[in-house]
Amino acid sequence: MATHDGSDPTISDRLNTVLESFIPGLSTMEDPILPGPRDNRGRQRAEEVIINMDNEPQQSERNSSATAGASNTNPQQDEEAVGGGLFDMRIIHTMSDSKLIIFALILLAKVLYDHGLGLLVFVGLTGTFGHHNVTLKRQVSLKHHRRAPMLALMLIMLFFSSFFVYYVFEDQELYKCLIFQQPKFQTFDLWTVLWCTGITDYILKYITISIKCVIGLLPHAAISVKRKGRAFLTVEQASQLFRILPPIPLWVTYFNQDVEETYIAAYIFTIAYVLSKAYVFYVRFTSMVVAIKQLLSEVQYGVAATKDQIGDSCPICQDDYTNPIQLNCKHVFCEDCVGLWFDRERTCPMCRAKIADNPAWRDGSTSLFIQFF
Ligand SMILES: [Zn+2]
Ligand SMILES: [Zn+2]
Repeated sequence: MATHDGSDPTISDRLNTVLESFIPGLSTMEDPILPGPRDNRGRQRAEEVIINMDNEPQQSERNSSATAGASNTNPQQDEEAVGGGLFDMRIIHTMSDSKLIIFALILLAKVLYDHGLGLLVFVGLTGTFGHHNVTLKRQVSLKHHRRAPMLALMLIMLFFSSFFVYYVFEDQELYKCLIFQQPKFQTFDLWTVLWCTGITDYILKYITISIKCVIGLLPHAAISVKRKGRAFLTVEQASQLFRILPPIPLWVTYFNQDVEETYIAAYIFTIAYVLSKAYVFYVRFTSMVVAIKQLLSEVQYGVAATKDQIGDSCPICQDDYTNPIQLNCKHVFCEDCVGLWFDRERTCPMCRAKIADNPAWRDGSTSLFIQFF
C-alpha cells in the first residue's frame, strides 16, 4: 500500500516528487476537474467510490490482520494515496497530450517549409480537377443544350494547367513519367516518388477529361446520347487501366536503390509490388473489355411506343416526345431523355422498377482516386 511517510515510496510518489521540483506547490493545487474545497461533495463521492473499489479485494486480508491484532492500515492514508495517484496521472496525461500536439505542429511546419511549393501545386491541381470534373458532368447532363464554348474553354484550361506544371518544374523532366521513363532526380526518396506519381496521375486525369470534352463536343447526329454515355465509360476504364502503369518504374527504382547487402529484401518488395500491380491490371483490363463490348453493342431500354401509349409530354423533359420508347414497366419517355437518365440511375424515374445496369462513369465523371502507387 502506498504511503507518504517516506518508508516505502511508490512510483506515484516518486513522480510526484519530480513534478513538485518542476511545479512548486503542485501537490497542494486544487483538482482541476472535480469540484474544489468549497463544494467538495462531488469529489468526496467520486473518491469514496474509487477507495471502496480499491479496498474491496484487500478487505479479507485486512480483517485477518485485524484478528491477529496487527492492523496498522490507516484509511485516511489510503484516501490520500489514491487521490494523489489519480491526480498525478491526469497531470501526466495532460502534459504528454500537449507535448504530442506541439511536436505534431513542429512536424507539420517542417513539412510545409520543405514541401510547401509541392503541396501548393497539389492543391491547385486538385482544385482544377474538381472544377472541370463537375463542369463536364453538368454539361453532359444538358444534352443538346450543352455549351460548346464552355467545353472548348475547358480543353484550353486543362492544356495550359498541364503545360504550366511541366514548365515550372522543367528541370525535373516530369513528362518522362508519362512514357515510363525516369525523371531527372539525384535520388528517389519517398517524397520524390509521391511527387512524380501524383503529378503524373493528375496530368493523365486532365488528358482523360479533355478526351471526354471532345466526345461531349461531338454533334448528336454523329453519336447518340446513349452511346456517348458508353463512350465516357470506355474512356474512363481505359484511363484507369493506363494510370496503373506510370508509378511502376518509379516504385521499382525506389525499392532497389542503394541496396547492396539488403538486395534480397529489395527483390521481395519488388516482386510483391509487381504481383499486386499485375492483379489490379487484370481486374481493370476485364472492366475495360466489358466497357468496349457495351460501347459496340446496341443497348435498348425498351420498345418504340405507339401513339396510344404516349401521354401529353415526356415526364423527364416536360416537352413533346422525341422517339418515345416504352420501358418494361410500361412508362414512356423520349429515347434520349431516358438514355441520359440511365447513365445516372438504374431505375425507372416514375415507378423505380430496375431497368438498367450499374451506371458508373457513364455521366462523364472521372475518378477522384489518385494513383500514387
Ligand atoms: Zn423527354
Ligand atoms: Zn416505370
